[in-house]
Amino acid sequence: MSTLTYESALEKYDPVFGIEVHVELNTATKIFCGCANQFGSAPNTNVCPVCIGLPGSMPVTNEKVVESAVRLGLALGCSIRESSRFARKNYFYPDLAKDYQISQYDEPTCYDGELEVVLDDGEVVTVGIERAHIEEDAGKNTHVGGSGGIQGADYSLVDYNRAGVPLVEIVTRPIEGTAERVAEVARAYVATIRDIVKAMDISDGRMEQGSLRADVNLSLRPKAADGEDQSAVPFGKRSETKNVNSLRAIERAIHFEIVRQAGLLDAGQPVHQETRHWHEDTGETTSGRSKEEAEDYRYFPEPDLLPVEPDAAWVESLRGTIPEHPAKRRARLQEEWAFSDLEMRDAVNAGALDLIAATIAAGATPASARKWWLGELARTANDAGTSLDGLAIAPAQVAAVQAMVDEGKLNDKLARQVIEGVLAGEGEPSEVVAARGLEIVSDDSALEAAVDEALAAQPDVLEKIQSGKVQAAGAIVGAVMKATRGQADAGRVREIILQRAGVNP
Ligand SMILES: [Zn+2]
Repeated sequence: MSTLTYESALEKYDPVFGIEVHVELNTATKIFCGCANQFGSAPNTNVCPVCIGLPGSMPVTNEKVVESAVRLGLALGCSIRESSRFARKNYFYPDLAKDYQISQYDEPTCYDGELEVVLDDGEVVTVGIERAHIEEDAGKNTHVGGSGGIQGADYSLVDYNRAGVPLVEIVTRPIEGTAERVAEVARAYVATIRDIVKAMDISDGRMEQGSLRADVNLSLRPKAADGEDQSAVPFGKRSETKNVNSLRAIERAIHFEIVRQAGLLDAGQPVHQETRHWHEDTGETTSGRSKEEAEDYRYFPEPDLLPVEPDAAWVESLRGTIPEHPAKRRARLQEEWAFSDLEMRDAVNAGALDLIAATIAAGATPASARKWWLGELARTANDAGTSLDGLAIAPAQVAAVQAMVDEGKLNDKLARQVIEGVLAGEGEPSEVVAARGLEIVSDDSALEAAVDEALAAQPDVLEKIQSGKVQAAGAIVGAVMKATRGQADAGRVREIILQRAGVNP
């Protein structure tokens, strides 16, 4: 067994990697039939003759799928092919009822792109995109009993709800020259794809639900001697690790494969070209099957479907819908909002960026918008086990509450109660204020009456104040706040107490 470390492996070998990302599109219906494209339905309820491949059924391409794929291709800087045929990729597996997958082979709709990936320290790496093609997903097998794999299972179940869910598969060119930052670049690339599809609202990008899945291939080649050109050294044999389904797992799988392959090479043993399985529990990959070549799939043009032929003017109109690159948008917003790196990172990690932006657009300052979403509302979401955008409050409502604070109508404590009322479905902030009677009492005569009552109840405190112990007024402020259910302006109450006691404030 090799005792190599990751660092020592990278001193001797240069890693080259590529990533295939499968993006499940969030169209209302599947790619070639009218079945609902919905995660989490009861098994085999979103199915029809087309998506379970009954003889004689005819697929028809969902135009919305083509639109989403073209938009994604444009966001990845790809050229859009004028005409691309679908192809049948033939293989047998129980989750593939037709015994072939409809995909694109030699004519991907999107090809030849590049994507800038911004690392945490701001360094930019440009990743070449070979292609982004349209295909259908397969169903899902569940192996029951044993360790969850097919070996040792008591029986297996198959759910065809996912069969025919639209996918775009994005394939990079080999990514070279990343050296010790290899795992970081791989992670940042997938995170960037995820951010783009979410910003474009063409997929929910949820890796934990499989709506964004990554296969990572990696090879090592000896480092070039000083003064020699690394790119002249041929690539080594690569492994392809399938279904690495979290950003953290991408980094871990790359670490593991680099150490494993370097150990083999050091021992003079070959690295086999093969697919490998990722094991989240052990952090290891294990050998799958030897990598099949394209000819094993007997690709041929799909005879039942028209080619995809997006109109050039339509493609140009879609180009106008491509959002700003997520990393560049973050940098721009951070500058506009004057957030520190830490504040910005917290906002991004909390998924609060768009909510903060919308709250600012509705009139709040950046600091107050951040305070609400990362404070009170983040705690509420956390307690409820939901995400921020799952809370029953809109950015405009948060901005409305903050506006009342700024106008002196609410203090922080009252504002939190208004937010609580909105979250509980009691209506707009102004309605909650009216229904719960939450407005600050700024009417002096009401405050004076409350102060007089509190002073009369605690004559000893009045004496202390008058004898110069002004800080004793705190007890009276507290009593007044209690009597007004927190709705008094504490500063004004203090002034009135001192006036009543005949002490100069
Ligand atoms: Zn169907």
